[in-house]
Amino acid sequence: MKQRLLFLGPPGAGKGTQAAQLAASHGLLHLSTGDLLRAEVAAGSALGQEAEAVMARGELVSDQLVLAIVRSRLLSHQGGWLLDGFPRNLAQAEALDQLLDELEQRIELVVLMQLDDELLLQRLLGRGRQDDTEAVIRHRLEVYRQQTAPLIAHYRQQQLLQSVEAAGGIAEITGRIEALLA
Ligand code: ADP
Repeated sequence: MKQRLLFLGPPGAGKGTQAAQLAASHGLLHLSTGDLLRAEVAAGSALGQEAEAVMARGELVSDQLVLAIVRSRLLSHQGGWLLDGFPRNLAQAEALDQLLDELEQRIELVVLMQLDDELLLQRLLGRGRQDDTEAVIRHRLEVYRQQTAPLIAHYRQQQLLQSVEAAGGIAEITGRIEALLA
């Protein structure tokens, strides 16, 4: 089974939900940069204080900051992992490639979760997180389109990319992803 995975897709596509589920059922480390950053904000750490305003605006926190987080987690972990919300731009993807070279590991599969904008907006508005107001959501979708979507071509070129339709029930979507892991 593939056990070094990366989840890609717009905010609201359900990456976090599916990643948590699959990581638990397959014993993988679930590495969500969004969750880790929110934990830093909640703890009031220096890192959290730096990230808070940027996240509230729906922009990306600095590459250096998220890279430091990902690096320390991957260095201290043995076994499989599932990256969720990282990389989010080409610079992060290149830094990840370099880090994985160092660790003599490689990505085995990139799962692209796809969903219509209309459904994305509905889901995010229903979630009610602090950065889930309509204006901020629209901005996050724009940031996704401009900075993150280019990663689709990057991983397609490496022949790692598989797409999954992210509309439907949670278990149904988990089943679609499971089918790609075998
Ligand atoms: P969503 O999937 O709904 O966009 P996340 O929890 O993945 O939510 O991310 C929330 C916010 O955290 C982002 O809008 C961004 O400000 C910050 N963030 C998360 N991951 C990264 C990353 N890899 N690089 C830069 N900023 C990030």
